[in-house]
Amino acid sequence: MVSASERRRFEVVIVGGGIAGASLAYFLTERGVTDVLLLEREEQPGYHATGRSAATLAELDPITTLHALKVLGGQFLRQPPAGFAETPVLLRSGVMVLFKNEMWDAIRAAAPAIEQAGTRLVLLSPAQAVARVPALLAERFAGAALLPDDGHIDVHALLWGYLGHAKRRGAEQRFGTEVRGVRVEAGRCAGVATAEGEIHARWVVNAAGAWAGKLAALARAAPIALVPHRRTIVTFAAPVDVRGWPMVHSDDDHLYFAPESGGLLLSPMDEEPMEPCDARPDDEVIARGFARLATLAPSLVPQTLRRRWSGLRTFAPDRVPVVGEDPRVRGFFWLAGQGGCGIETSGALGPIAADLIVEGRTERFDARTLSPARFGGA
Ligand SMILES: Cc1cc2nc3c(=O)[nH]c(=O)nc-3n(C[C@H](O)[C@H](O)[C@H](O)COP(=O)(O)OP(=O)(O)OC[C@H]3O[C@@H](n4cnc5c(N)ncnc54)[C@H](O)[C@@H]3O)c2cc1C
Repeated sequence: MVSASERRRFEVVIVGGGIAGASLAYFLTERGVTDVLLLEREEQPGYHATGRSAATLAELDPITTLHALKVLGGQFLRQPPAGFAETPVLLRSGVMVLFKNEMWDAIRAAAPAIEQAGTRLVLLSPAQAVARVPALLAERFAGAALLPDDGHIDVHALLWGYLGHAKRRGAEQRFGTEVRGVRVEAGRCAGVATAEGEIHARWVVNAAGAWAGKLAALARAAPIALVPHRRTIVTFAAPVDVRGWPMVHSDDDHLYFAPESGGLLLSPMDEEPMEPCDARPDDEVIARGFARLATLAPSLVPQTLRRRWSGLRTFAPDRVPVVGEDPRVRGFFWLAGQGGCGIETSGALGPIAADLIVEGRTERFDARTLSPARFGGA
C-alpha cells in the first residue's frame, strides 16, 4: 500500500515483481540508477510465472536468438558476482535431450556450431543415455544430447538475490500495489496510477508477465500480440533413487522430467493459450502426459501425485522476448514475452534492458532482434 508520506516521483517505475522486474531493478542499481520503484500487485514477489517454473537452465534452443540469450544468462547463473547469494544459484545437474531419427541426424550435424556458440554438449547413444537414466526404454529414441553444465536453478535465491541487492542500493519495492493506469503526456510516459494515487516517472517498465499486453493497452502502446499459454507441472514419488539423474527432455514425447526433492517433477508440456489469470492444472492434460510417459519410461508412472500446479508462459508471435522502448510511447519500456525461458535469461535480459534505459544502446547483444519495433506499430 502507498501511504500519503511515501514518495511519488521516481526516475524509473518497474511494473511487475517477477524475475524480469527484479533483475532489472538489480542491474539498474548496479549501474548507479537507484531512483527506482518496483510495484507488484500481489502481496509477495514471484507469485505468478516466476514461482511456478521448472527452474531449469537448458541452453539448447532451435531459435538462435534464444540460444544466445540463454548462453549469456547461463554465464551469470554459473558465476554470479561474489556475495550475490548465500548458496549457488545453479546446480549443474545436467539436462539430457532425447531425439528421434531425423532430429538426431540434425543435432549431430549442428553439434560443432552449438559448441562454438558456447554450449558444451555430449552426444550419447541410447545405451549411454539409459546408463544415466535406467528407467528409459532405449528403443524409443535414436540418441541424446547431454548438456553437463546446465541444470537446476535455485529460483528463490536468484529472485531474492536480485531484490535484496537492489533494495540495499536504494531501489524501493512496494508489494500489494496494482498499477491501474499509465499516464501519457504528449506521446511520452509521465507515470502510473494506483489505487493510492499517481506516481510520476520518466520511465515506466512493462515487466507485467502475462499481463504485459493489458498494461501496454493502458498506455496505448504498440499492440504487440503477447499471448499467455498455460503450462503444468506435477511432482510424485520415484520408484528408485533418482538423485543423480539429469533432467530428461523429449519434444517428441512432449514431456520432460527431473529429480525434485527426492522424487520427480514432470511436465506434460501443455501449451494452452488463455487470458492472463491465476492458472490452474487440467487433470486430462496430466493424464495424457502420463500416457506418454508410459511409452518412454513406464516404471516411472506414479499411482498418486504429491503436488500439481500451472503457470503462464507468455509469448510474442516470434517467441522471442520483447525488450526496448515502445515505438509509439516514449519512456514506456518493454521487458516482456520471455515465454519459457525468463528465469534462465534474466541475467542477460536484465543488463540489456538496463543498458537500453541508461544509454539507449547496448554492446552485449543485437538489440534489434528484441526490439518492440520489430512488429511495426509505430
Ligand atoms: C510451468 C512453467 C515452467 C517453466 N520453466 C522454466 C524453466 O525451466 N526455465 C526458465 O527460465 N523459465 C521457465 N518458465 C518461464 C518463466 O517462469 C517465465 O518466463 C518468467 O517467470 C517470467 O517472468 P516475469 O517476471 O516476466 O513474469 P511473472 O513472474 O509472471 O511476473 C509478472 C508480475 O507482474 C505483476 N503484475 C502484472 N500486472 C500488474 C499490474 N498492473 N500492477 C502491478 N503488478 C502487476 C504480476 O502480479 C506478476 O507477479 C516456466 C514457466 C512455467 C509456467
